[in-house]
Amino acid sequence: MTRKELLRKKREQIIEENGIIYLDNVSKSYSTGSPALNGVTLSIQPGEFVFIVGDGGSGKSTLIKLLLRELTATSGSVYVMGNDLAKLKHRQIPKFRRNLGVVFQDFRLLKDRNVYENVAFAQRIVETPGSEIRRNVPAILATVGLAGKYKAKTKQLSGGEQQRVALARALINKPSILLADEPTGNLDPKNSWEIMNLLEEINEKGTTVLVVTHNREIVNAMQKRVIAMKKGIIVSDEEEGGYIDED
Ligand code: ADP
Ligand code: MG
Repeated sequence: MTRKELLRKKREQIIEENGIIYLDNVSKSYSTGSPALNGVTLSIQPGEFVFIVGDGGSGKSTLIKLLLRELTATSGSVYVMGNDLAKLKHRQIPKFRRNLGVVFQDFRLLKDRNVYENVAFAQRIVETPGSEIRRNVPAILATVGLAGKYKAKTKQLSGGEQQRVALARALINKPSILLADEPTGNLDPKNSWEIMNLLEEINEKGTTVLVVTHNREIVNAMQKRVIAMKKGIIVSDEEEGGYIDED
């Protein structure tokens, strides 16, 4: 076995034993204030759909940033797709992130580019051949219901449409995990449901999906695993859970 094959085998073993996402007693402190995460242990299996809920300031975005390796833990270990993120070298980070799709509340699109360009850009970064890009982009835009809008500038789109572009961009490189940090925070109820339904479809095709949200109605209706956080601690973790009241 080559060294590369050996490392892959080791990653597969970690995923099998501990999940595709695994936090072992993780704390994260910023320079000021009390810890944003305080001894979090958490395991998510490949193919799961998980909601993360909790008040503002409870550590949800910090958790997402640790998974993306935008931040490193102050103590404890974070494993994503079998990689111990503390051991990941800087030059390995871009390749690691190719397997993660990310969506944010504020869409983060290139505003002066059209829909097609915003999605194609994500493929150019990973050096996908042009012929494949021209095939892949229309296909993913059709999946998110934007087949007819590929020429529109993103700043001319509604919020719901912008979030679909962001979703298409997050998915175009076929990530194993999709992370969404309050993806419906700026959307009306109808568009919120449409985005959540798309996330569920993506999950049904095999992608592990982690969604941070405040949308009580959607969480209660969808009956997925719900992890509730409070002041940097996981206060409940339930299969087919509901939104936990804070008071
Ligand atoms: P949530 O996403 O649940 O609202 P965050 O993870 O953003 O929570 O924040 C958790 C805690 O960490 C909060 O008390 C917040 O003020 C603090 N925090 C977040 N980011 C920073 C930062 N860059 N520097 C200092 N404190 C931060
Ligand atoms: Mg947040």
